Amino acid sequence: MGDGAAINHALPTRHVAAANHAVRMELPLADRADFEDARRGFVAALSPAVVRGTAGRVVWDMGSYAFLDEECPEPVNPSLWRQAQLNAIHGLFEVVPGIYQVRGMDLSNMTIVEGREGVLVIDPLICAETAAAALALYRAHRGERGVTGLLYTHSHVDHFGGALGVIEAEDAAAGGRAPGAPQADGGTGPAEGVATGRRSGDPGEDAGRVPVLAPEGFMEHAISENVYAGTAMARRAAYMFGTGLERGPHGQVGAGLGMTVSNGTVGIVPPTIEIARTGQEETIDGIRMVFQMTPGSEAPAEMNFLFPDHRALCIAENATHNLHNIITPRGALVRDARIWSRYLGEAIDLFGEHTDALFAGHQWPRWGRERIVGYLAQQRDLYGYLHDQTLRLLNKGYVGGEIAEMLELPAGLAREWHCREYYGTVSHNVKGIYQRYMGWFDGNPAHLWPHPPEQAAARYVRAIGGAEAVLEEGRRAFEEGDYRWVAELMSHAVFADPSDRAARDLEAQALEQLAYGAENPIWRNFFLSGARELREDVRERGATPPPAMIGQLTSEQLFDVLAIRVDGPRAGGLRLCFNWVFTDLGERHLLTLSNGVLIHTADREDPDADATVLVERSALNELFAGTTPMPELLQAGRLRVEGDGAKLGELLGLLDAPDPAFAIVTP
Ligand SMILES: [Zn+2]
Repeated sequence: MGDGAAINHALPTRHVAAANHAVRMELPLADRADFEDARRGFVAALSPAVVRGTAGRVVWDMGSYAFLDEECPEPVNPSLWRQAQLNAIHGLFEVVPGIYQVRGMDLSNMTIVEGREGVLVIDPLICAETAAAALALYRAHRGERGVTGLLYTHSHVDHFGGALGVIEAEDAAAGGRAPGAPQADGGTGPAEGVATGRRSGDPGEDAGRVPVLAPEGFMEHAISENVYAGTAMARRAAYMFGTGLERGPHGQVGAGLGMTVSNGTVGIVPPTIEIARTGQEETIDGIRMVFQMTPGSEAPAEMNFLFPDHRALCIAENATHNLHNIITPRGALVRDARIWSRYLGEAIDLFGEHTDALFAGHQWPRWGRERIVGYLAQQRDLYGYLHDQTLRLLNKGYVGGEIAEMLELPAGLAREWHCREYYGTVSHNVKGIYQRYMGWFDGNPAHLWPHPPEQAAARYVRAIGGAEAVLEEGRRAFEEGDYRWVAELMSHAVFADPSDRAARDLEAQALEQLAYGAENPIWRNFFLSGARELREDVRERGATPPPAMIGQLTSEQLFDVLAIRVDGPRAGGLRLCFNWVFTDLGERHLLTLSNGVLIHTADREDPDADATVLVERSALNELFAGTTPMPELLQAGRLRVEGDGAKLGELLGLLDAPDPAFAIVTP
């Protein structure tokens, strides 16, 4: 953050200070059991805990969180401070003999299980740089063991993005047991530096290769979840993780699940062994595992698994030391709290008797059968309660915004640290559950067709008596400590006139107070990111999709991405038709434009098409990733057009670029 940020940080007002004080009095802060768990089995830490990428760029820096050693400062909710301190405990830890974790070297954990010949790596963090550093930390203390297996617990990037930091793409075994995996059906082309398009089932090819395990549907979801709405999600993720904020008592103090996200090189190695069935067993390098499928819980493709010989259970991200997100504020499809709860119950039934240690893809483990089963039962009840009670209340006619204020967790859950709102909140999760069943509309016809934000804002400001009157009411409410109302009111003033500095500043002040009082770190990051953009007139860009991920899009997904970019109003009257030939894959696709919609059909061609495009799929990946421009591809002969080349130019001219830095707090 620039120097401008250092100027006059506000302190909490008396309202927020009193609320934070009440939290301090109310919570059993003397209970240090989590700290004991978080430090148990400590082997060593990287010092300094800084990971650099190409050209020395810092991709991870735990030193920036050294301020957490202090007592909780005034501008932070004490409950959040405690969680941040726990997540800041980093290094290599022994979970049980033979199972190690590297924690605090990315948002997520890397788990390393020692086998006969080498190690099974579970969840290789977000980027190759942190993953390689984590594995190196392990090896420095446990010896130079090779990677004999890789496993992804689920399809979120913080659990696979660093795969290329622990194995080479060529080392992934072509296991021939992954019928749904893209490399087996030829649906996905090779990407630069990522897995090859090797077909499965070639005997003799596997010698010395590394099996890569993942739950059924992994590739599809890993790639698709962030593709179609990727730009918008990334922009909002920058708010959620506070990537533009300074770290410190007035800024970012973590992300609940961990400290923050690393920003190195993201890649993927497609799985070679698909886990599809609860009860399925696999043995990798002598390490036995029994799986439980949990699709549609925390992620669309996810699984828990037991190491029966270690009496250790990996619960993936289905139970963490926080209330998780049913709907994530960065934006995503809403998750199913009901089935999430059911899976946790099933995990207890399947594995409870056989588990003495529990670990997950985030945060610290838990030991002792009773403590583990009790914890899983409370997590089961947490999601079940939110689901059932939201449904009970919506069937009485309450809407999401009302239920969010009414619903409180029962005492047996509310007093547990791991049920607290360090990632999800009851408030936004309830709205997510409402949305899953009922949609955005609350049934009130007055809300069926309201004016959009700017138009509504102008009308509110006029109705209240002009910008000065709005400001006056805002200042009055600020004095009273009603920051939620100040934020809403001043947002109308800003949307009516974004050049109104007084309105922007008052909104920023209100957001800042909301942040200082927030137990939830991602709410805090949202509030502070909004305040910063209002004050400094900057916009934090979202991350662009890494080239390696574009390379893994199926052809259908690639054409979908193209279709999503077509500027409908300009394309509306045109009719275009192209045959596409992916020369390196031998694939043919028909692409037609009609009524502003780009329709894609595989294995089809039209002799009357305007043109035929002959292109290497890998060249197209580079074009999409923005690494190689069109003229260069044409010149190199990697893209050729037969027929009316001008028509292809016409189509490309209709593509509209997404905006990775779109406005959020201003119109
Ligand atoms: Zn995760």
